[in-house]
Amino acid sequence: MNIILFGPPGAGKGTQGDKIVKNFNLYKVSTGDLLREEIKKNINLGNKIKSIIDKGLLVSDNIINDLLIKIFSDKKLYNRLIFDGYPRNLEQARNLDTCLKKYKQKISCVLCLNVEKKLILKRILGRQTCINCGLIFNEYFMPATSKNHSCDPKFLNKRSDDNEKTVTNRFETYLNKTLPILDFYKEQNLLHHINGMLEIDQIFDEIRAIIASLET
Ligand SMILES: [Zn+2]
Repeated sequence: MNIILFGPPGAGKGTQGDKIVKNFNLYKVSTGDLLREEIKKNINLGNKIKSIIDKGLLVSDNIINDLLIKIFSDKKLYNRLIFDGYPRNLEQARNLDTCLKKYKQKISCVLCLNVEKKLILKRILGRQTCINCGLIFNEYFMPATSKNHSCDPKFLNKRSDDNEKTVTNRFETYLNKTLPILDFYKEQNLLHHINGMLEIDQIFDEIRAIIASLET
């Protein structure tokens, strides 16, 4: 089965993606990773990609396609892909369908993690790291207390770049870009909404049930 995972930044997409990979023996396709791996090889295409990125330009869809086709044509990865951060627009979604078809595969389901902006703000803005011992807390969900933390509270540090406006912008950009893609998959009856406001294990139970229903 091939799965696409959507979710706003801070929704726990990485965590759930890793759990799906592990439990269902899938291979995670992240275009960022594909590009980085190609650059590491330091031959033709990789050098071309590096020069594009170094100039601050976006890597073209054609290049990403070439990398994806390597994955689709790999027999070891046949029908066991999970896409994270791709497709980013409708054109890529349509193109993904066409490419997969060529390799006798298709998307089995699209999982969309839904989390309210309010909760994402608390998850991200509430994050505190102790600069003395490295422990991570959250002032809303897991505050540092004298029981779970022995350092002086003055060592607790908040990430400064995560201000409310940045998080809100990232969330809204995600919604605007993703809604048309979700509609595309909804029309194909592939879209499943997941309640991302629950605990990590509860969310995964929901995902597991959906995937299990596909396999029968
Ligand atoms: Zn500490």
